[in-house]
Amino acid sequence: MTASDWRKILKQLEKKPAIKARFLKFCKPKDRKFGIAAKKCIRCGRYGAHLNQYGLHLCRHCFREIAEKIGFKKYM
Ligand SMILES: [Zn+2]
Repeated sequence: MTASDWRKILKQLEKKPAIKARFLKFCKPKDRKFGIAAKKCIRCGRYGAHLNQYGLHLCRHCFREIAEKIGFKKYM
């Protein structure tokens, strides 16, 4: 459950409050302080190929798409 957002499951469990409470108590992913799952692309939510430089917090795919818009003149 690292590829997409686990909060999508909560939408499915709106009609089942008891199961939702049980999920939140036992099955919710931990809040990570470090590691690959702590860094996430702010645009698409991807975990891999993360760029932390200059406080971007984007994956390489999103950076390629919006680099010129946010002011980068030369990029990979
Ligand atoms: Zn992205």
